Parts: sequence; C-alpha cells; structure tokens
Amino acid sequence: MKISFFGAAHEVTGSCSLFEHRDIRILVDCGAFQGGDFVEERNADPFVFDAKTLSAVVVTHAHLDHIGRLPLLIKAGYDGFIYATPPTVELLKLVLEDAVEVMTYNNKKFGTPILYNLDDVAATVGHCKNVEYYEEFTLPLSEKVAIKYYEAGHIFGSAFVEIRCGGKKIIFSGDLGNVKVPILRDTDNLPGDVDLLVCESTYGDRLHDTRADRQEVIKEVVKRALDRGGVLMVPAFSVERTQEILYDLNEMIDLEKSFPQDIPIFLDSPLAIEATEVFNRHTKYFDEEAKKYLFSGDDLFHFRGLKICYSRDESKKINSTPGRKIIIAGAGMMNGGRIQHHALRYLSDEKNTLFFTGFQAPNTLGRKILDGASSVSFLGERVRVKCKIEFVDVLSAHADRARLFNWIKNNGELPKKVILNHGDLVQSQAFADRVKSELSIEIDVASPEMAVEF
Ligand SMILES: [Zn+2]
Repeated sequence: MKISFFGAAHEVTGSCSLFEHRDIRILVDCGAFQGGDFVEERNADPFVFDAKTLSAVVVTHAHLDHIGRLPLLIKAGYDGFIYATPPTVELLKLVLEDAVEVMTYNNKKFGTPILYNLDDVAATVGHCKNVEYYEEFTLPLSEKVAIKYYEAGHIFGSAFVEIRCGGKKIIFSGDLGNVKVPILRDTDNLPGDVDLLVCESTYGDRLHDTRADRQEVIKEVVKRALDRGGVLMVPAFSVERTQEILYDLNEMIDLEKSFPQDIPIFLDSPLAIEATEVFNRHTKYFDEEAKKYLFSGDDLFHFRGLKICYSRDESKKINSTPGRKIIIAGAGMMNGGRIQHHALRYLSDEKNTLFFTGFQAPNTLGRKILDGASSVSFLGERVRVKCKIEFVDVLSAHADRARLFNWIKNNGELPKKVILNHGDLVQSQAFADRVKSELSIEIDVASPEMAVEF
C-alpha cells in the first residue's frame, strides 16, 4: 500500500493525496494552491498521476484548497464518481463557480489563465455522488474497499474519511474543526484500530485563546462599533464564517434587550447569500443548539433589520442608508468583491469600524490594512485608513495543537502510524516531535510528492 502527497505538504493549500493498493487508486481531495503568485501558477501544471486511472475521488469539504482542481481532473479524463456529503456537493458548486468568476476577473486584469469555465464546473458537479455521514459504502473494485464519512466539525458538510482496504484501516482527517462553533456539530472521535492516520497540522504549534468566549468577543466588537456611531464593515468569508456571524447577530437581536433594534444589517455578497440557502436546505446536519432554535420557530439566518442584497443596485443603495449600519460583504480578505466599494467610502472616517473575522493572507488588501497601512490603493483610488480596525482570532475554523493532540490520543486508542500534512513545516515538525515524545507513536511529516509505503 502506498500514499503519495501532491499538495498540502510543507504548506497549507493544494490538498491532494493518492491512496494506492494493487490496481486500486483513490484520490482524497484535489485542492487549489493559494497564496502568492508563484504557488498559484502551480494550479495550471498537469497532474503528476494519470487521472484516467483513478478508481474513485473522495472529497472531505468544500474549501477551495481541497476542491479547486476537481474540474481539471475531469478535463484530464477522470470519469468516475466524486464522493462528498450533500452540503459539500452543493457548496462545492458555489465555490467553484466563484473561482471561475475570480479567474475571469484576474485574466482581464493581470492576464493570468482561466483554468476552467462554468461548463467544466457543471460537468464536475455531474460526477458528484452524495454520501451520508456514518453510512459505510463499498466500491465495486478488484478488492473490497469500504468508505465511511465522520463529522469533522470544520465547516458545514465537512468530514474526515475512513478507508478500509486490504485488511487495513486508513483515516484522512481533511481539516478538523475548532471547539464550540455555532451551527456545526462537534468533531467525532477518531475510530479505534487505525493503521494509518493522515492528519492535518495547520496549527500544530499554536494554541487558540480559549479564555475568550467567541460570542462575547463578537458582541463586544459590535457594541464598540455601534457606540462610535458609524458604519461597521465585516469582510465576509462567504462559506461558514458569514453564517456563524449571522447566527450570532440573530441571537444578539433576539436575546439582548440592550442591543439597538433599529440597526440595518446588510448581507451584501451573492456567494454568502447562496451559501446560507445551502445551510437552510440541510438543517438536519445542524448541531443540537441550532436545531433547538429552529424547532422554536426561529429563522436562524433571517431576523429584524437584515437586508439581503442580491443585485448591484441593491448593493449601491446601502450607501444612501444614513446613520449606523452593519455591512457584511465579500471578499473576506478584501482582495475583490463588493466590500471594496464600501471600503472606498467608509475607510477614511474614524467613526467607522472594519472588523476582520479571519486570517488575512500576505499581499491582500485586508492584510495591508491589518498591518497598519495609513493609506491604501485599490479600484484606482488612494484612500486614507482612519477607521477603527478590529480583528479576532477566536473564530479560527481549525483545531489547535491541544485539540489535535487529544484527537490523536483518542483516549488511549492510538493509531499505529501518523503522517502529518496540511501545515507549514515549522508547525508540522513541532507537532510531530511533541506527539512522538509524549505518545510514542510512529509519526512523519509529509513532504512534497513523497510516497509512504505501509
Ligand atoms: Zn478547510
């Protein structure tokens, strides 16, 4: 048996691992490389393996760094199924369609290639097959292969995947979630008797701030922003983060007597709006708390003051609403999308607030502002940054070192061998050293295009 890593080795994007046993070849995720220009060029490289010979493709969740190259796989001749949970299949379509839009925009502006179009995305979705959590299914291959999906608690629909083949049990963690995330169910425990665990290590050497209650933190930011009497801008990560923020705002408005009831809240991101509809169509995967709200008749993502802006005209009208308001608009790192138009207007007023809810990659507009730039240029204009900047990291979608460690420790039912991927080398190596010394299990860090025989 062999596992090869074609991405997410010494880095956190481009997840793509190939499991091989005799003539059985199962690809787990097929993600895009993201970040600086250099790594993104790698997305256009041909696959190192022959897509036509794959037996199956298994997808853990709908983040672009796990699905972004799926259409290229179909274009390269893969003709089988792409297995994923029902929310992942729907979110995957939205995320890939959005990727086409971004590529088309970048092509016009910078001349970068358009790797696939909407027809290719439709063809990819046509290959998807829904998989329910916990319902084991077998693949009709030369040898029996059984596959089972478990809750990863990372984003809506996310899963870690068990593959049983040739008498061995292998787990691919995908990305694992943080604690106490609204809407999402908790990450399932690792099953017992695991021969090989391929585990993410994004935050293998970092602890999240667990003292702060995430909702308290968000509440404080919103209150401070409204007290300043200005506009609160929230650059939106459209899938998951936006729905969590809406969930928190819904709770604040329903339960907090002191929350001003006349504040207009604009959801100004077509992708976030469509992603929210996916959540609404799949409430059976919500956690118990969110289900309780639903059963009490509450619409989690729709509340007093919320205005949904589908069209550009509706988006433009936000400007003419006077006074305090909250604007949630894409993109999350401000490197495009409607948030830029609002930023042009509101960045330079010290009454206003810009609230970052997630990691800002180097070279993005969001990162420049977060790093303290006194002025920034975008959309052909130069704007001074005078508004208040807020940032919280309690919203991370990834498990931290302690959570990863406990997950692997699994109440003493340790996996026989672990390979860490999806982490910068520093994070992965530090975590590997810790696991090795404290748990005495065999553990390696995946390196690019390395193959592990077992
Ligand atoms: Zn992810």
